[in-house]
Amino acid sequence: MISKCCKAKPLFSLGYAHGVKMYDDTYFGVCSKCSEQSEFIIEGDDNHIFNINIAKQLVKDIEGLRDADFHVCKQDIFQSQGGTKDDKGEYPCSCEHFDRVIDKVQSLIINWEGAE
Ligand SMILES: [Zn+2]
Ligand SMILES: [Zn+2]
Repeated sequence: MISKCCKAKPLFSLGYAHGVKMYDDTYFGVCSKCSEQSEFIIEGDDNHIFNINIAKQLVKDIEGLRDADFHVCKQDIFQSQGGTKDDKGEYPCSCEHFDRVIDKVQSLIINWEGAE
Protein backbone atom coordinates (compact mmCIF):
# COMPACT_ATOMS: atom_id res chain seq x y z
CA MET A 1 0.00 0.00 0.00
CA ILE A 2 1.47 3.36 -0.99
CA SER A 3 0.37 6.99 -0.63
CA LYS A 4 -0.76 8.90 -3.70
CA CYS A 5 1.28 11.96 -2.65
CA CYS A 6 4.73 10.48 -2.05
CA LYS A 7 4.35 6.83 -2.94
CA ALA A 8 5.30 6.06 0.67
CA LYS A 9 3.88 3.66 3.22
CA PRO A 10 1.15 4.71 5.67
CA LEU A 11 2.39 6.16 8.96
CA PHE A 12 -0.09 4.35 11.15
CA SER A 13 -3.16 2.26 10.95
CA LEU A 14 -6.59 3.78 11.31
CA GLY A 15 -8.31 0.55 12.03
CA TYR A 16 -8.29 -1.28 8.76
CA ALA A 17 -5.07 -3.07 7.99
CA HIS A 18 -2.89 -0.05 7.23
CA GLY A 19 -5.59 2.48 6.51
CA VAL A 20 -9.31 3.01 6.23
CA LYS A 21 -10.86 1.59 3.14
CA MET A 22 -12.72 4.24 1.19
CA TYR A 23 -13.65 2.53 -2.02
CA ASP A 24 -12.21 -0.04 -4.35
CA ASP A 25 -8.53 -0.42 -3.61
CA THR A 26 -8.30 3.06 -2.12
CA TYR A 27 -7.50 3.61 1.54
CA PHE A 28 -7.19 6.63 3.78
CA GLY A 29 -4.30 7.23 6.17
CA VAL A 30 -1.31 9.36 7.01
CA CYS A 31 1.67 9.40 4.68
CA SER A 32 4.89 8.35 6.39
CA LYS A 33 6.95 10.71 4.22
CA CYS A 34 5.13 14.05 4.30
CA SER A 35 2.92 13.32 7.35
CA GLU A 36 -0.11 14.62 5.45
CA GLN A 37 -3.39 12.79 5.23
CA SER A 38 -3.48 10.95 2.01
CA GLU A 39 -5.22 8.34 -0.03
CA PHE A 40 -3.42 5.07 -0.39
CA ILE A 41 -3.65 2.58 -3.14
CA ILE A 42 -2.76 -1.04 -3.16
CA GLU A 43 0.07 -1.70 -5.51
CA GLY A 44 2.48 -4.50 -6.15
CA ASP A 45 3.68 -3.78 -2.62
CA ASP A 46 0.97 -5.87 -1.01
CA ASN A 47 1.56 -8.73 -3.40
CA HIS A 48 5.21 -8.36 -2.56
CA ILE A 49 4.64 -8.84 1.19
CA PHE A 50 2.26 -11.67 0.38
CA ASN A 51 4.95 -13.40 -1.67
CA ILE A 52 7.55 -12.96 1.07
CA ASN A 53 5.20 -14.53 3.60
CA ILE A 54 4.51 -17.46 1.32
CA ALA A 55 8.23 -17.95 0.72
CA LYS A 56 8.85 -17.89 4.50
CA GLN A 57 6.15 -20.52 4.89
CA LEU A 58 7.83 -22.57 2.16
CA VAL A 59 11.07 -22.57 4.15
CA LYS A 60 9.18 -23.95 7.16
CA ASP A 61 7.47 -26.54 4.96
CA ILE A 62 10.77 -27.76 3.54
CA GLU A 63 12.28 -27.90 7.04
CA GLY A 64 9.25 -29.96 8.04
CA LEU A 65 9.90 -32.41 5.19
CA ARG A 66 13.57 -32.62 6.09
CA ASP A 67 12.77 -33.39 9.72
CA ALA A 68 9.81 -35.66 9.02
CA ASP A 69 9.97 -39.31 10.07
CA PHE A 70 9.76 -40.58 6.50
CA HIS A 71 13.02 -38.84 5.63
CA VAL A 72 15.75 -41.19 6.79
CA CYS A 73 19.16 -39.54 6.64
CA LYS A 74 21.95 -42.09 6.53
CA GLN A 75 24.35 -39.69 8.21
CA ASP A 76 21.96 -39.04 11.09
CA ILE A 77 21.58 -42.78 11.68
CA PHE A 78 25.32 -43.30 11.42
CA GLN A 79 25.90 -40.63 14.06
CA SER A 80 23.08 -41.78 16.30
CA GLN A 81 24.71 -45.19 16.32
CA GLY A 82 27.94 -43.68 17.55
CA GLY A 83 29.66 -43.21 14.21
CA THR A 84 31.90 -40.19 14.09
CA LYS A 85 33.93 -40.42 10.91
CA ASP A 86 32.58 -41.46 7.55
CA ASP A 87 35.80 -41.68 5.56
CA LYS A 88 34.38 -43.49 2.58
CA GLY A 89 31.33 -41.28 2.29
CA GLU A 90 29.09 -44.29 2.76
CA TYR A 91 26.58 -42.36 4.82
CA PRO A 92 25.74 -39.25 2.85
CA CYS A 93 23.68 -36.60 4.60
CA SER A 94 20.50 -36.26 2.59
CA CYS A 95 19.39 -33.30 4.73
CA GLU A 96 21.64 -31.23 2.47
CA HIS A 97 19.29 -31.69 -0.45
CA PHE A 98 16.55 -30.04 1.55
CA ASP A 99 18.89 -27.37 2.88
CA ARG A 100 19.96 -26.45 -0.64
CA VAL A 101 16.34 -25.76 -1.60
CA ILE A 102 15.87 -23.80 1.63
CA ASP A 103 18.92 -21.69 0.73
CA LYS A 104 17.45 -20.90 -2.66
CA VAL A 105 14.13 -19.82 -1.20
CA GLN A 106 15.94 -17.81 1.46
CA SER A 107 18.03 -15.94 -1.10
CA LEU A 108 14.75 -15.15 -2.84
CA ILE A 109 13.36 -13.75 0.43
CA ILE A 110 16.49 -11.64 0.98
CA ASN A 111 16.18 -10.35 -2.58
CA TRP A 112 12.54 -9.47 -2.13
CA GLU A 113 13.01 -7.88 1.27
CA GLY A 114 15.86 -5.82 -0.09
CA ALA A 115 13.58 -4.57 -2.87
CA GLU A 116 10.97 -3.27 -0.42
ZN1 LIG B 1 3.06 12.17 1.27
ZN1 LIG C 1 21.50 -35.42 7.27
